[in-house]
Amino acid sequence: MKILVINCGSSSLKYQLIDSTTEKAMAVGLCERIGIDGRLVHTKAGEEKLTFEKPLPNHEAAVQAVLTALTDQGHGVISALSEIEAVGHRVVHGGERFVGSVVIDDEVIAAIRECNDLAPLHNPANLIGIDACRKLMPGVPMVAVFDTAFHQTMPKKAYTYALPYEYYDKYKVRRYGFHGTSHSYVSRRAAEIAGLDYENSKIIVCHLGNGASISAVLNGKSIDTSMGLTPLEGLVMGTRSGDIDPAIIEFIAKKEGKSLDEIMNLLNKKSGVYGLSGVSSDFRDLEAAAMQGNERAKEATEVFVYRTAKYVGAYVAAMNGVDAIAFTAGLGENDRKIRAQICSYLGYLGVEVDAVRNDVRGKEAVISADASKVKVLAVPTNEELAIARDTVALVQK
Ligand code: ADP
Repeated sequence: MKILVINCGSSSLKYQLIDSTTEKAMAVGLCERIGIDGRLVHTKAGEEKLTFEKPLPNHEAAVQAVLTALTDQGHGVISALSEIEAVGHRVVHGGERFVGSVVIDDEVIAAIRECNDLAPLHNPANLIGIDACRKLMPGVPMVAVFDTAFHQTMPKKAYTYALPYEYYDKYKVRRYGFHGTSHSYVSRRAAEIAGLDYENSKIIVCHLGNGASISAVLNGKSIDTSMGLTPLEGLVMGTRSGDIDPAIIEFIAKKEGKSLDEIMNLLNKKSGVYGLSGVSSDFRDLEAAAMQGNERAKEATEVFVYRTAKYVGAYVAAMNGVDAIAFTAGLGENDRKIRAQICSYLGYLGVEVDAVRNDVRGKEAVISADASKVKVLAVPTNEELAIARDTVALVQK
């Protein structure tokens, strides 16, 4: 089957056309600046990327541009739209309602809309993408795959905040977790590569990208993860603070005369390693700056590494042990130094990284030494493939 995978943001739309038989992307691309001016960057597998400046006044125009690119005689990969048998949509927040992927109908759309409150920046954009695809591809089955769904197996003690209970009752204020598609895909792959029985294993997944989160996957089920009601909680990230003392919000607001909106913007966009270093949210820039003697860039990396290592320790406690630790996403897949630094805190677990094996980028690899008591792996995530797999499974049912 050929599956179109759509990840729709407020002004961007990422897509892949995946052949489910080979599990390879036939084409990948991105519409940017939707509603501003418009640009489509399209890559046919094995060929150079092509950029088209194209007016994209709205998401429907963006989806139309994607379909035109996919069927183009030159750079297209299919001869007719009818070859697209289903569409898989990434949806950020499924609340407590969605514990797995679902075929989209009017009722599902209404239920996703009910979760808008919980992800006001993301869910409305995801819905706009679904709507545009339904209009332009009537009759083609669509599936929603949620970032939160994999973590719905967390026990209550893990997802509950120690707030007055009424806020959970009234507004479902609790921890949800994100990057679920990635944690699910990577934990399963890690088990396969490490030769573990997934249903009988203790795996910690460190998804370290611009957004970063970590999960404890016990016997194939997420039992804890570092992001919470929103993707702001947990690890230090590119521009997000992760865990802080909540009293800091009032403290800075009073000192600086800032509004709540301003403080939230500061925590989401101006904090993390970017705020700490004053250099960049990108670890490649931080490393370059640190090499040139920039102390704050070095310290920002140390804070990031230390926080991540502490969470690993917490999740070993949550599972009473660990069989494998998997690193994924931009940093986890590519940055051997960050992986080695995090693992340097884990000697007490018997973790031993092999420097030669760890010298990999963007490839699946066991990076621990044979003598290591815990397998450590680098596993490139593939959320689009995971979405395509779920889509095929549901559509064929
Ligand atoms: P996002 O959350 O935006 O999807 P990514 O998963 O792309 O983020 O991760 C971005 C981070 O990964 C950046 O800090 C970047 O420095 C790092 N990164 C990406 N590629 C490499 C690389 N080849 N070597 C080292 N770090 C990398």
